[in-house]
Amino acid sequence: MTSFQDLGLEEALLKGIAALGFETPTPVQELVIPVALNSDDDFIALAQTGTGKTAAFGLPLLQRIDPSNRNVQALVLCPTRELCVQVASDLVNYSQFAHQYKVVAVYGGASIETQIRQIKAGAQVIVATPGRLVDLLVRQVAHLEKVAQVVLDEADEMLNMGFKEAVDIILEAVENRKSIWLFSATMPEEVRTIAAIYMKNPRELSVGNRNQANANIVNHYYLCRSEDRYAALKRVVDAHPGIYGLIFCRTKNDTKEVAEQMIRDGYNADALHGDLVQSDRDRVMQRFRERNLQLLIATDVAARGIDVSDITHVINYGLPDEPEIYTHRSGRTGRAGRTGVSISIITPKFEEKIRQIERRTKAVFVKMPIPTGFEVCESQLFHIIQNIHDQEVQHAEIEPFLPRIYEALADLSKEELIKRFASVEFNRFLSYYRNSPDINIHAKGGDKKGHHRRDVAGNGSLQRLFVNIGVMDGVSKKDFLHLLSTEFRVPKNAIGDIDIKKSFMHFDLEPSFIREVREGLEDFSINGRRVKVNDAMPRPEKDHKPSGPKWDKTKKKARY
Ligand code: AMP
Repeated sequence: MTSFQDLGLEEALLKGIAALGFETPTPVQELVIPVALNSDDDFIALAQTGTGKTAAFGLPLLQRIDPSNRNVQALVLCPTRELCVQVASDLVNYSQFAHQYKVVAVYGGASIETQIRQIKAGAQVIVATPGRLVDLLVRQVAHLEKVAQVVLDEADEMLNMGFKEAVDIILEAVENRKSIWLFSATMPEEVRTIAAIYMKNPRELSVGNRNQANANIVNHYYLCRSEDRYAALKRVVDAHPGIYGLIFCRTKNDTKEVAEQMIRDGYNADALHGDLVQSDRDRVMQRFRERNLQLLIATDVAARGIDVSDITHVINYGLPDEPEIYTHRSGRTGRAGRTGVSISIITPKFEEKIRQIERRTKAVFVKMPIPTGFEVCESQLFHIIQNIHDQEVQHAEIEPFLPRIYEALADLSKEELIKRFASVEFNRFLSYYRNSPDINIHAKGGDKKGHHRRDVAGNGSLQRLFVNIGVMDGVSKKDFLHLLSTEFRVPKNAIGDIDIKKSFMHFDLEPSFIREVREGLEDFSINGRRVKVNDAMPRPEKDHKPSGPKWDKTKKKARY
């Protein structure tokens, strides 16, 4: 049986929980503590009250705090005042023999002045209800720039209670966070949306029995129109450059068709289906096993015998009829303790099927936006850069050629050389995706709460704006980015170059945000001058970094 020691907790915390009578970890603690202690992975833990979830996040959270650092290093958001008080008091109890961490609970219905004093006295952990924390952010009392771990406790309750907007504001404010740990008893759409927007490949940690989904597998799904299914598949594959994947199709014909199309489009892919003679099947399987084949497209029946341990992604090009088959398919990844991703590319009418699989298998599905052309190019570019960086050099073999290589490249500066090397592969994706459309399905008029879930189009479609403020007003790129994200909820990838000159600036913005940002900015004045925004000629330039403006809001409407 696993003990708390085995989980890697430090001595003082072990003493603290022993004093509380905790002898052995609960299942959720066993699952969560090692991940939370040893990685910066985002995760979603399906856990209800009473499962020991507070200690599951509380203990690693305390252990990761630097006691000598007086900044706010961790943030726990809870739906209610009662839970806030309970969590804060639990944290203090766990650490009774450890450092005297400064834990401050902030919640509505109590004196904000007292809470402000407590925070100013050097809070290291803030446990907060979202509404009150936003108040404190607006008053510029709570500084969250140094927060590394963010816990969303009872996320479903929090969103049920109408805190979505406050949670959005807070998650935008913890800009340097290392990880988000999300705890929820259920996975309604609102929780999924938060996860999809703010969490990076979240791991799913759920305490299940053997019939339930594998906790090492993250389930993502992408919604597209039927005619865009193949394009969506390519985007997803292209956005994961290191993919070693198994793509499932429902029928033999689909399998052949997709494989043929992929091969035609230059992918290292092949098909496995019942029409192949045994020797061909063996040959394909061997190439896949030896990683000479990057993508294997297969039917369920043909894939039965596949036992390859390090498949990174399973892609469901269409869902199977039975939820159990989904579990089998996805179980081809996430083996031997590794994390795997199971991706489904579906049309909207199959979304209900996803819910059915969730109910049956207890797997948590996260809806993901189909990567834009810009995002694909970005992933590919940094994959190339990483490859160049990690490239093993065969010194002896390359040595004789080096003088000629140096000579051939002698007229290029280091910067030019880097650009050219990076462009060798990148250009292929760039030219393919340059004017690629957004193939996500956008709900008309946004979601039911009126928040538009906007997907960012390719960089090519960013629009350049002029603003009549600049360095002399003390505007810096960081302040401006902060303003755009907190005030107008513009995600960072919707913003392009920001070029700040002495008395004015230009910046690039994804078009769907322009109206709101333009109207919103013009509600501001800076140093007594009314902010004006106009269209500008497209002309990308470099950033500039001066410091500290004062953004004063004029009498006009508040944005939140
Ligand atoms: P929670 O789900 O965090 O609300 O915890 C439910 C209750 O279980 C609380 O009263 C905890 O003090 C208690 N508890 C949590 N973990 C353990 C453990 N490993 N052993 C015994 N009690 C625990």
